[in-house]
Amino acid sequence: MGRYIGPVCRLCRREGIKLFLKGRRCHMAKCPVAERQRPPPGMHGSRGRKGSEYLEQLREKQRLKRYYGMQEGQFRLFFNRALKKRGVTGETLLQLLETRLDNVVYRLGFAPSRRAARQMVRHRHIRLNGRTVDIPSLQVRPGFKISIGGDEQRREAVRESVQMAESLGLQTPAWILFDKEQMTGEVLRLPTREEIAPFVNEQLIVELYSK
Ligand code: SF4
Repeated sequence: MGRYIGPVCRLCRREGIKLFLKGRRCHMAKCPVAERQRPPPGMHGSRGRKGSEYLEQLREKQRLKRYYGMQEGQFRLFFNRALKKRGVTGETLLQLLETRLDNVVYRLGFAPSRRAARQMVRHRHIRLNGRTVDIPSLQVRPGFKISIGGDEQRREAVRESVQMAESLGLQTPAWILFDKEQMTGEVLRLPTREEIAPFVNEQLIVELYSK
């Protein structure tokens, strides 16, 4: 299936949670998901549809996939990678998703949304350990440094984005060290389960893919 190009708020309404796909608006009262009574998209809403175990697992997978703005093939790839690693598969999957370069750029406040962060990386505006990169799905590890490439105009745009994040009360997670003077970030350690998207029940996703 191709990339979804329709209205993104529709995806949040479908999942019943905020996926933070639109930047600033997501943190304001204008966000339609904040209006609790709004039904899922579609003519008749959910109409109390009874969910089977499979549907519940599928929904959980869609939530996480959409939260990180990924397509099915790539999401599955990440799951397979998590499966091969030692530890609890569901938690490892979350850790792998959270430590994608585009997500870290977003967490640093360099871009207002993950989609914008991905674009920044693709357009070669991000440096990883001093080298320009263009692969948003690159995995960062403790000790990796993220900085801004491009011209002064680009740096100014990033500064504005950081200021906006601050004004919205968004904070850089504790596992990343942000240097505001230099506009750089350093990964200090891997994020813990509690620090990552706590809305999801990752075990349901493991069960879905283990069928
Ligand atoms: Fe739209 Fe953002 Fe709210 Fe989602 S969280 S419904 S993308 S404004």
